Amino acid sequence: MELEPVIGLEIHAQLLTSTKIFCGCSTTFGAPPNTHVCPVCLGLPGALPVLNRRVVELAVRASLALGCDVQPVSLFARKNYFYPDLPKGYQISQYDQPLATDGRLQYESEGRQVDVRIIRVHLEEDAGKSLHEGFAGSGRATHLDFNRSGVPLIEIVTHPDLRSSAAAADFFSRLRTMFRALGVNDGNMEEGSLRCDANVSVRPAGAERLGVKVEVKNINSFRYLQHALDYEYERQTGVLRAGGAITQETRLWDVAGGRTLPMRSKEEAHDYRYFPEPDLPPLEVSAEWVAAIAESLPELPEARKQRLVSEFGIAERDAAWLAQSADATSYFEAAARAAGNAKAACNWIMGPVGRYLNEHGVEIGDLRVGPERLAELVALVEEGTISTSAGRSVFERMAQSGASARSVVESEGLAQIDDTDLLGAAVREVVDGNPDAVASYRGGKTGTLGFLVGQVMRRTGGKANPRTARAMLLDILGGGH
Ligand code: ADP
Ligand code: MG
Ligand code: ZN
Repeated sequence: MELEPVIGLEIHAQLLTSTKIFCGCSTTFGAPPNTHVCPVCLGLPGALPVLNRRVVELAVRASLALGCDVQPVSLFARKNYFYPDLPKGYQISQYDQPLATDGRLQYESEGRQVDVRIIRVHLEEDAGKSLHEGFAGSGRATHLDFNRSGVPLIEIVTHPDLRSSAAAADFFSRLRTMFRALGVNDGNMEEGSLRCDANVSVRPAGAERLGVKVEVKNINSFRYLQHALDYEYERQTGVLRAGGAITQETRLWDVAGGRTLPMRSKEEAHDYRYFPEPDLPPLEVSAEWVAAIAESLPELPEARKQRLVSEFGIAERDAAWLAQSADATSYFEAAARAAGNAKAACNWIMGPVGRYLNEHGVEIGDLRVGPERLAELVALVEEGTISTSAGRSVFERMAQSGASARSVVESEGLAQIDDTDLLGAAVREVVDGNPDAVASYRGGKTGTLGFLVGQVMRRTGGKANPRTARAMLLDILGGGH
């Protein structure tokens, strides 16, 4: 029985504001411990939170980019738990009425189209940080830094729509790219600006019922995410195959050990006793404000794809690939315009250029062949100066040396023979040397023409322009077209 992994992600992203979510303290990373604190973010009695407008604007920006419906009214709630880095005894979050719901992110991973539905995006504050080492007395005590407490976060929760560790890692990485492009998050995973909890279960491939899930907490790298999910898949399938059962629990990724370790089981799970935050009114976001934020968004992949299809007439699949990256899109647009032939430019980028990028691990923005240079090569092939296969090797040379298409063609003597005087002799020789083929062509077997063109190509070492050779042969053979 084949078992498939089922994965849902919960991602925390710090919003790029200069001040915290409910007070004016700085969010700058790396300040000396407890220097960016005030009664509000320390949770001292009587201190009143005031919502930072910029936080809401960035959260709406992220929600719209994820295709979510931004709710006209959302509510803050207290999530109660005890932890040393949470002096208030509760975290202000959103619970049953989050800021935004029902989004989706579509992308390609390992050559397959992935469609992940987003359940919700909600606002919350971060907690402080426990420091277990690096201070005098660290051996005996844990130190606490509250600079982080009250830093604004959004949490993005997906449906369990992912079916492989690679697709999950790609989701996380796409989200990072998108948030950076939107200016909502700095993507700095080592500093904790972006982190992920991965929920994973296994079930018989294609089954409808979900298996019992395990949550792996606080993963701060794409690679760790993929490794943790692979590890969990192996561990859970092993348990099931041995006749055991999976226990619902929270685990941690042990980086040094390359394994997940249990943290707490369902029995020890928190009951957060959520209740509405009495110190904050309902958050109202007007339709006008949402519309204005939507207006200010940069072009997102889905819109970009549609535009490439309608503006350039290229295939949807190709457009989807190009639209995944702003760099690939602008490279294509520049090449298509310069070549005056969007389809040919697209074929080159999807074919030889894409292969080169893959093989050499190069980003399109760093390619030594800029779009104008590629356009020049495309034109040389289209006008028949060089053959398509010669064009491919010219491209390789250009990418290695940074030279122009023309200079490579000249230095390698790759130009096709298009000159009827030069080709005439070869065509004549082929006609004289293959009387049988000529006779069968004249007898009605027009398929022989391909053979004769091939012979001309051979005689010219592959440099003849096949179209010219064909036309000249037809002239001599006296056939129709
Ligand atoms: P919880 O109440 O434990 O937080 P939720 O239903 O809120 O669980 O889901 C939290 C995350 O776990 C979501 O991303 C969801 O997609 C994912 N998830 C839920 N059930 C499963 C499952 N059986 N297998 C994998 N992921 C799951
Ligand atoms: Mg949860
Ligand atoms: Zn503060």
